Amino acid sequence: MTRMAPLLARNEQFAATYTPGPLGPPTQQMVIVTCLDHRVDPAITLRLQLGDAFVIRNAAGRVTQAVVDDIAYLAYLAEQFFGGQVADDRLFEVAVIHHTQCGTGLLADPGFRHQAAQMTGLPEAALAASAVADPHATVKADVERLLASPLLPPQLAVSGHVYDVDTGRVTTIIDPRNP
Ligand SMILES: [Zn+2]
Repeated sequence: MTRMAPLLARNEQFAATYTPGPLGPPTQQMVIVTCLDHRVDPAITLRLQLGDAFVIRNAAGRVTQAVVDDIAYLAYLAEQFFGGQVADDRLFEVAVIHHTQCGTGLLADPGFRHQAAQMTGLPEAALAASAVADPHATVKADVERLLASPLLPPQLAVSGHVYDVDTGRVTTIIDPRNP
């Protein structure tokens, strides 16, 4: 039996009362960038509703080139199709959220990182770049990386936050800034 079975049963309940919405900008005009960790799902921690926000998740929620590319494309789409529907000075706010107790913190240890690289075939530099040992430091670095990207239009704002797994609380580290 597939492990999807209980989740598909939940989907049956969801679909039973579902009302489709029109294609439009996300109602909160937010892009959330965060870790794929199952303990930090922003749909739960930020109580996102369907249609509220774009969510980009990867290991640690680091701002990789792929994340920059996705945000640049989302901004283009939003300007093309929803330009008149949202305030021009702030198309989206991109919130980067790193968290305490991130599993990628182990990758900050050179010995662990070397072994992980050997066993997985992933480049050691890529593993080092995804490590979040101190979320306060990495979230600052990633907000700066986004703000410095020539691909992002000036109508975007970028903010940085840390989610504490012990308390469930999100703390803002960097207030929204435009590129
Ligand atoms: Zn994590």
